[in-house]
Amino acid sequence: MVLFKKVEELKAYLAAQRAKGMQIGYAPTMGALHRGHASLIKKSKAENGLSVCSIFVNPTQFNDPADLEKYPRTEAPDMALLESLKNDVLFYPSVAEIYPDNLTIPTFDFGQIDKVMEGFHRPGHFDGVVQVVYRLIDIVQPDRLYMGQKDFQQFTLIYHMLKQMGSSTELVVCPIIREEDGLALSSRNVRLTPENRANATIISKTLSSLNEWLSSHSVQQVKEKALAQLGSLPDFKPEYLDIVDGYTLQPINDVEESPYVVACAAVWAGNIRLIDNIILKKLD
Ligand code: AMP
Repeated sequence: MVLFKKVEELKAYLAAQRAKGMQIGYAPTMGALHRGHASLIKKSKAENGLSVCSIFVNPTQFNDPADLEKYPRTEAPDMALLESLKNDVLFYPSVAEIYPDNLTIPTFDFGQIDKVMEGFHRPGHFDGVVQVVYRLIDIVQPDRLYMGQKDFQQFTLIYHMLKQMGSSTELVVCPIIREEDGLALSSRNVRLTPENRANATIISKTLSSLNEWLSSHSVQQVKEKALAQLGSLPDFKPEYLDIVDGYTLQPINDVEESPYVVACAAVWAGNIRLIDNIILKKLD
């Protein structure tokens, strides 16, 4: 694996690879890599001649400074995992490399898509996400961009950003990788107390029950039931559970309203915020 810390050096290397006809797959991450990240890199490796991964803990997307400070940083095991996956290129830039003084980022209009759920509860978060992904894409110029379904609203915004840019980069969304007990893998899971880690299965259990509940209850009733269940354990507080149209991310009142229905949840387990989602229905 080749490591780059400087934007210009990475760009020169990738330009030379591109000139040789190499297709580039790219998985941006914030490190503390786990099997979820590995699934993106494996797919990128399988579908492209050259696989690029970046590790950059983006300060502009943290609406909570304590969360940024405590975000796990595990450089050595991350490098070892990437080597074991035979990832080709690691981009590991400093904040100054990503955000030089003269940088300008275009603004995008996402309508109501960034106003709900994570956008509503984490003000400014998506501005930071869009800013960093725009900058990273501009540097790497990948043929394919690999992102996880775990961050449903995030990949939806990036899909719209790429469209508005007129970009030729294809967005490839990879399924959620879970622990054996159902908890969606997240870099933040290591910060859960043992008790909260054990109880965190409530999130995937609740999401998996929704379709059955929807067969005999209204969307509103199901949301109430789910929120009650998510808040039933000590130290657990649901922030939201929304049942939305998978394209517009707007809440629906009836599952028959939409061909694509997704439930997204954010839950506090102590002072750790966990998110998860499930596709309840997707008709072609
Ligand atoms: P992060 O390092 O949290 O910014 O995540 C980097 C990428 O990995 C994002 O596209 C995430 O959606 C994806 N990702 C994170 N967790 C998982 C998971 N459990 N399964 C699949 N993809 C994931």
